[in-house]
Amino acid sequence: MVNIVNMEEFYQSTFGGRPCQLDMSIYVGVTYECGCGSEHSWDPYSTPVIREIPGMKVVIDNPQCGYVTLVKIKLGFFKYKFESIISSINKIDNKTTKTPKKKKKKKRRK
Ligand SMILES: [Zn+2]
Repeated sequence: MVNIVNMEEFYQSTFGGRPCQLDMSIYVGVTYECGCGSEHSWDPYSTPVIREIPGMKVVIDNPQCGYVTLVKIKLGFFKYKFESIISSINKIDNKTTKTPKKKKKKKRRK
């Protein structure tokens, strides 16, 4: 069972990644365990890789079920395997949504 974490922890665990530069086309059809509880067959269109993490790990986004999952790519015999490490629901609670773009008007007066 994949470990489900909150978004903050997920970001921290995937910190230091970069946009995916791996050739992911060889992994089409590889299944991974998702935070939603089911297995998905990886596909570049329905489950895009949004991040590449050092150590052959990638972050897979699944807009259908709303989970993002960190998987490690493992080489088995004749085929690859995705080993799910952590997963998180990719939703920001509206109640806690902040607008981080407004940073300029912060003048401190003493
Ligand atoms: Zn899912």
